[in-house]
Amino acid sequence: MNLTRTVCPYCGVGCGIMAGADGTIKGDPEHPANFGRLCSKGSALGQTIDLEGRLLAPQIGGRDAGWDETLDLIANKFSTAIRDHGPDSVAFYLSGQLLTEDYYVANKLMKGFIGSANVDTNSRLCMASSVAGHRRAFGTDTVPGTYADLEQADLIVLVGSNLAWCHPVLHQRIAEAKSARPSMRVVNIDPRKTATSALADTHLRIVPDGDISLFNGLLTYLADTDALDQHYLKHHVSGGLPAITQARLGDPLESGLSHDELEQFYQLWAGTKKVVTVYSQGVNQSECGSDKVNAILNCHLATGRIGKPGCGPFSVTGQPNAMGGREVGGMANMLANHLDIENPDHRAKVQEFWKSPTISAEQGLKAVDLFEACASGKIKALWVISTNPAVSLPDAEGVAAAIANVPFVAVSDIMARTDTGDLADVLLPATGWGEKDGTVTNSERRISRQRAFLPAPGQARPDWQIICDVAARMGWSDAFGFSSPAEVFAEYVALSTATMDFGRDLDLSIFADADYVNMIPTQWPQNDKRFFANGGFYHPDGKARMLPVSTPKASARDAFTLNTGRNRDQWHTMTRSGKAPRLGAHLAEPYAEIHPEDAAALAISAGDLIELSSPKGTSILRALITDRCARRQLFAPMHWTRQQSSAGLVNNLAISVTDPVSGQPASKANQVSARKF
Ligand code: SF4
Repeated sequence: MNLTRTVCPYCGVGCGIMAGADGTIKGDPEHPANFGRLCSKGSALGQTIDLEGRLLAPQIGGRDAGWDETLDLIANKFSTAIRDHGPDSVAFYLSGQLLTEDYYVANKLMKGFIGSANVDTNSRLCMASSVAGHRRAFGTDTVPGTYADLEQADLIVLVGSNLAWCHPVLHQRIAEAKSARPSMRVVNIDPRKTATSALADTHLRIVPDGDISLFNGLLTYLADTDALDQHYLKHHVSGGLPAITQARLGDPLESGLSHDELEQFYQLWAGTKKVVTVYSQGVNQSECGSDKVNAILNCHLATGRIGKPGCGPFSVTGQPNAMGGREVGGMANMLANHLDIENPDHRAKVQEFWKSPTISAEQGLKAVDLFEACASGKIKALWVISTNPAVSLPDAEGVAAAIANVPFVAVSDIMARTDTGDLADVLLPATGWGEKDGTVTNSERRISRQRAFLPAPGQARPDWQIICDVAARMGWSDAFGFSSPAEVFAEYVALSTATMDFGRDLDLSIFADADYVNMIPTQWPQNDKRFFANGGFYHPDGKARMLPVSTPKASARDAFTLNTGRNRDQWHTMTRSGKAPRLGAHLAEPYAEIHPEDAAALAISAGDLIELSSPKGTSILRALITDRCARRQLFAPMHWTRQQSSAGLVNNLAISVTDPVSGQPASKANQVSARKF
């Protein structure tokens, strides 16, 4: 059997896979992300490539329709809305599972031709706070770390990250490095005890959102123990003193840790030169997520623990192409290629390059705001591509009602029935993993090729092509006349080259002569180049910024705090992973973890059902009694959709509280009441 080199469609580790049309799946021994390793989800991909439930033809109002009729209708509805109500009356909602080429053309169409920045993505739910933190500290959204740093570090601090379940191959790499070098220390900072805690030498159980207190306390400790790198601060950082002064105002005990726990952690951090701090959704999905990110970055900047092997802050992304999406600017507050939408010179350059009639001059609606605009009637035409916001956004019922309120909704998906697709006027059959070609960028800035090894089923087409076909019908056939993803990628690389005068980080020149067909996984800006090795940040003065951040006021928490997240063997709304029987055997029904004492207080025994309520809704879940959760804290997975188990839809409970800087929803700290059902 001929095997095709491609990459896994699930998490941001971006593992290389060798796949065959007969369902053969092997880890790619030559891919630098995984060197042949795979996790349970990746290795079960062969069980997910059947066509059961697939959307195989365009549909209008529930009937099969031809492509021409469907594309004409979308172009007409969007053009009419723009003519009658202006460009901001339309919106795209995209996905971190799209390929970079899909993202590039969608962003180009909305920002450069329609003239609105109402193009946001489910990546807003994943790592928008990290983007905001990076931009504030570094001047660009640069992820400085690499996976090799994890193996070279002497101390790995995992904050709000259940790596063992959510980025399993990175967890494997750390476990193997620690086993080979037992002196390596791992500290896990998380309100919840997880499978990742088992790998750690120390689990620090902070209170929800206790991260800023903890890292502000570390910054104070570093200052008080003469552990700052004064030379680095002087030459490469601004704002050190205000950040330290602000940090002193807080009380690290508000992190929920004891004095001894804090002292030991601070001593370990201060006494270890090679520290990597890995953070993920537990940091990002918070109403102070951006500040949490900057509290972490402050400590690395203050000690020069950045830009060196085995050192640095490292945001790991949840989705396979969250990085590629933000690189091409596929978010409402970014321009293409890490350029700034607020900067007139950047806009002019991109517009000139695109030869576009316009360019959006201000930020568009971020995810939660976008669906609120749908609810209020402001959005007249919406195109949802490769995601299921009626399930995955907070206040899922409210979002479903908001989508139903939009006069025209198109949904592109691989599946015929999704909660969001059921609300659409038009369904567009997209090719899925194994059927489409393009590129993705993983968490360490490595661009890999996703390659087709299966034929496109039915009438399904790749997303980039569908978007270009609509753009052409709206009158922009020249700018969207791409005939292959390779041509889209070449334009993206050329845009990077054309905008390098602005001194930004996104230098793709290494791909200028790339053989797209045979491209090997390659890190930008060039393999082995280390960002910030000698300072060289992207603020106008070339220095990084330390940002004063305060500990948030603890809100009164009479209720339970519900933390939502992933199971080991499922992915998002289970569209693909739900097809694999082996994966379904692990944690097969919706559940909520609850501490034994809380369960006893509610008279809940093992196997009972628990009812969770918030002002937005109610969920009924199986109670899983465990001390993995602290008292008054609950955990529930977010995989079950309304169609699979309406009672198990936990985003139904979430209120749309967002970080004011990043717009990322606070999915880790939903306030709910609980009772035995
Ligand atoms: Fe796929 Fe992530 Fe597992 Fe790698 S670690 S096989 S990318 S799900």
